[in-house]
Amino acid sequence: MLNGNNLDLLVFAPHPDDAEIATGGLLAKLARQGRRVGIVDLTRGSWGTKGDADTRVREAAAAAKVLGLCVRECLALPDGRLEPTMQQRRLVAECIRRLRPRIVLAPLEDDPHPDHHAAHHLVRGASLWARLPKAEVVGEPWSVRRLVFYPLHRSDGRPSFLVDINEHLETKLAAMACFASQFIDAVLPEGYTYLATSDYLARARANAAYYGQMAGTLAAEAYWTDTPPVVGDVIEEQ
Ligand SMILES: [Zn+2]
Repeated sequence: MLNGNNLDLLVFAPHPDDAEIATGGLLAKLARQGRRVGIVDLTRGSWGTKGDADTRVREAAAAAKVLGLCVRECLALPDGRLEPTMQQRRLVAECIRRLRPRIVLAPLEDDPHPDHHAAHHLVRGASLWARLPKAEVVGEPWSVRRLVFYPLHRSDGRPSFLVDINEHLETKLAAMACFASQFIDAVLPEGYTYLATSDYLARARANAAYYGQMAGTLAAEAYWTDTPPVVGDVIEEQ
């Protein structure tokens, strides 16, 4: 199941489970429409407070099946130390050249987690490098049509567009639930009181409802772009 290139849409996630949290509804929706969609996890999540890297990789494979992905890979870059360095950017650019996605998704820049912030700049730079014929990157040049950004810990401001995921919210939550070490059976160090104590599944449902009311539906996901998306059919696409 998990192979192929020429993807319609590819989500780069700093850690396994980030893509499901922010984009699971869109991925499930596109996969059901027959689109070729995938996730590339930049790290194995080995610095995560809950669970361990091997468990998270297994959970990621299970979530990929639930969502109907064509591709789920992990670049195994160093967790906690993502940076838009030449070396890391080259690896991400090679991945883009190999999978040839039309649309690439990355985290929003404004995020308190340094890996999320770095992933934004890493993917943005790699998308540019991927299309430069003379860049020192393995593979044939490939031009990503559009970069789209998704929210993780912060989502200030007005989204560029909303996606109705009302029929796909339960699939998204089922994919998130595959990460039992993170969301279901989370074991936390004594005295740990930050975000990890929150119920992520409930938060995902609440976010979907919040953006859903903005979209005039029951559940939606929010996305940001550098420039407003062009609407092809003003009547049909409203
Ligand atoms: Zn993360």
